[in-house]
Amino acid sequence: MLIMKPVVAIVGRPNVGKSTLFNRITRSRDALVDDFPGVTRDRHYADTMWNEKEFTLIDTGGFLLSDDDVFATEIRQHVEIAVDEADVVVLVLDGRSGLSPFDTDLADILRRSEKKVFYLINKVENNSQRHAMPEFYSLGVDKFYSVSAEHGIGISDFMDDLANALPHYDPDKDGNNSGGNQEQKEICIAVAGRPNVGKSSLINRLFGEDRLVVSEKAGTTRDAVELVVEHGGCRFRLIDTAGIRRKGKVKEKIEKFSIIKSLKSLDVCDVTLILIDASEGITDQDITIAGYARDRGCGALFLINKWDLLEQDEKDQKKFMNDLRMKAKFLSYAPAMTISALTGLRTHKIFSMVEKIYDEYSYRINTGLLNRIIEDALFRAEPSLHKGKRLKFYYSTQVAVKPPSIVCFVNYPDAVHFSYKRYLLNQIREMAELEYTPINLYFRERT
Ligand code: GDP
Ligand code: GDP
Repeated sequence: MLIMKPVVAIVGRPNVGKSTLFNRITRSRDALVDDFPGVTRDRHYADTMWNEKEFTLIDTGGFLLSDDDVFATEIRQHVEIAVDEADVVVLVLDGRSGLSPFDTDLADILRRSEKKVFYLINKVENNSQRHAMPEFYSLGVDKFYSVSAEHGIGISDFMDDLANALPHYDPDKDGNNSGGNQEQKEICIAVAGRPNVGKSSLINRLFGEDRLVVSEKAGTTRDAVELVVEHGGCRFRLIDTAGIRRKGKVKEKIEKFSIIKSLKSLDVCDVTLILIDASEGITDQDITIAGYARDRGCGALFLINKWDLLEQDEKDQKKFMNDLRMKAKFLSYAPAMTISALTGLRTHKIFSMVEKIYDEYSYRINTGLLNRIIEDALFRAEPSLHKGKRLKFYYSTQVAVKPPSIVCFVNYPDAVHFSYKRYLLNQIREMAELEYTPINLYFRERT
């Protein structure tokens, strides 16, 4: 059974405090994010947790096309899509500026839906503001939460109720680990890319009728379709959350805000195939999508599709790859291939490349070897002093796979400079032969 991490979408008109609320809820967990400088994109979504309930929080306002020219229709569309795709929706209203006709409009859409919706009146910092609330009751909503996102007032009561409303998510029971045969390797893949890059053509080529398709069934999520194919003794599962394979009129609307579905599928996959249209070059949107894969910490493979349309010149290929490496520095571990979903150029190599990535992604480094690698690296280049004191590394251990996550116990975790961290990561990559997987490296104080 396929269980995906629930998604909570924050909606509302501009300036009501959506991003402040988003930050308030997610901030406490920032320390756990293994961030890379250079990835300076604004974060409008984050995995977070309240009362042991895990979920992904999305600030839909962050995905508006432009800041200074916000169209009401665009916001309304985000609300409609959030209603379709998120598990819980939070409508934020502004207790200071009061009710606007647009709020009424949004609330109408939400009331008609069957989704669980929370109505927040934000910027309520004292009792006199509370008295301004009756006008909100004209929305016909039973329960409001009056909060101050900025000052943290009322947030925890609201969050307790929100967490209660969320479906339970247990990652150990998700699709990755189901399936009867424990011996057989099963790799879960996702296909990502902007509209028209060739996702459905590629899926049909990899999972099409002429393949041994083991199953095609709907998951527990309404729209997720799961395809399974066997190749070289290995099972490849594709979770098609975006309904890429079933094309139709709904497609366009969905793709405008496919972030929710993309995040869901990237969250359950081991390796994501990031498709880029060679005939259009590398666009900002491609890089944004690549950024999601980076954030999700899954393995990634760039597929430069429609290569048949280009002069298949080695120089071209090199230029394209250099451009990709420049623009997607944060995914330097993701290999890249030029393909054509249409003609089948190199598509037969995709599964074996995915398997290679997966093997590294699920690799467990022997603890003895790991500590020797670190010792060696320290010996070759000592870390700089921290306030005149020596930085000491005591012991390192791999705490998780998918992706390999390593903790080094040291005396001053904050004193490990980013460049030194990068040096250690490179040493681990080289010595443990982990070229294609993301690796998390954390520093903890020895207790
Ligand atoms: P968004 O456009 O909905 O994401 O709104 P922002 O989060 O950017 O907030 C808009 C403005 O309202 C900012 O100036 C915030 O500082 C302010 N704001 C947000 N939450 C509160 C609050 O709880 N109380 C007060 N007084 N101001 C707030
Ligand atoms: P999606 O929106 O990402 O699912 O893209 P589609 O698979 O629907 O492809 C969009 C268009 O690009 C269709 O007209 C395809 O026939 C075409 N297309 C897909 N892959 C290739 C390719 O490798 N070469 C060429 N020339 N066209 C392709």
